[in-house]
Amino acid sequence: CGIFAYLNYNATRERRHMVELLFNGLRRLEHRGYDSAGISTDADPCRAPVTVSSGAVLPSPPPLVFRQKGKIEKLVSSFYHEAVVVELDLELSFTSHAGIAHTRWATHGEPSPINSHPQTSGEGNEFLVVQNGIITTYMDLKETLLKYGFHFESDTDTEVIPKLAKFVHDILNEDLGSDGGDKQVVPFTQIVMDVMRQLEGAYALICKSPYYPNEIVACKRGNPLLLGVKETGDMRTDINVESDLSAEGHHGKPKEYYLASDANAIVEHTRRVLVTQDNEVVHMNDGAVHIFKFDSDKSRRLLRPASAQR
Ligand code: GLU
Repeated sequence: CGIFAYLNYNATRERRHMVELLFNGLRRLEHRGYDSAGISTDADPCRAPVTVSSGAVLPSPPPLVFRQKGKIEKLVSSFYHEAVVVELDLELSFTSHAGIAHTRWATHGEPSPINSHPQTSGEGNEFLVVQNGIITTYMDLKETLLKYGFHFESDTDTEVIPKLAKFVHDILNEDLGSDGGDKQVVPFTQIVMDVMRQLEGAYALICKSPYYPNEIVACKRGNPLLLGVKETGDMRTDINVESDLSAEGHHGKPKEYYLASDANAIVEHTRRVLVTQDNEVVHMNDGAVHIFKFDSDKSRRLLRPASAQR
C-alpha cells in the first residue's frame, strides 16, 4: 500500500544512512495501512560476479532483499540484528546506490514473508519490484510464465511483474545477440514498457535490477507515484518530461532522488516534488531523470524480433 525508492548520484552515503532512509520512508507511509514490509538495498559492489543458471553473468552483485510480515519497527530491528549476524557492513560508503521499499496491504496472498515485497524474478534477484495496486490479469500471465518454465514462490499478483521483466529482458537480449552480461544494450525503460503492455489493473510500481546497477524505473496507472529531487536550481532543468529513449544522462552535481506513493515520504528531504501522470515511466540514471510517455504501439514494435520487422 506504500512504495518508496531512493537513489543517490555522486553523493557519498553510508549503507546505514540509505537503509535508515528507506525505513523512514516506510514509517511515513504507515498511515496508508499495511501488514508486511520490505526493502532492497545494494550488495557490496566489490563482491565477486555471480553467474545465474541461464549462464548470464550479473554485472553487479544481486541486491539484498529483506522483507517480513508485521510492523515496520520489527522489520527495522530484525534487519539490524541480521546485519550483525551476517556481518553486513553498515558503514560501507556508496556514491551511487538504488534502494526500494514497500509496505504491503495484502490483496492476493496472505501476509507472509514470501508474499511480502520486493517480489523477485527468482535466482540472483535479476529483477525486483514493489507494487501498490492490483494486476487483474495476473492469473493468465502466471499460467503463461509457468509454461515457459518460471517457478513462482508467492501467491501474489505482483510476482508476475519481475518474472515478466526477466522474460522480456532475456528475449530482447537474445534478439540483440547479447548475453545480458556486462555489455548491457536493452534500456531498462524498454523492458518496463514491454512489461506494462502485458499488465492490466491499477498500479504504481518501482523496479530495480543488478543489470542496471544505478538505475530505477517506475511507472503508474491509476495509483499515485511522486518524484522528488534534492539539488539546488530549477526543477525544470533536472527533469526532462517526454524525452525520447535515447536521452543522455547529465553528470555533475550530487543529486538524490526519491519516489513515493505519498508526498509525505518525500517532503522531509525536498520540497521539489513532481506528481507523475498515468502512463508515465520515470527513469533515473546517471544523475538524470527522464519521464517517458508509455506508448503501447511503439513498445510493441520494439518487442518484435528483428527478423519479423523486415
Ligand atoms: N496486490 C499486491 C499484493 O497483494 C500489492 C498490495 C499493496 O498495494 O500493498 O501483493
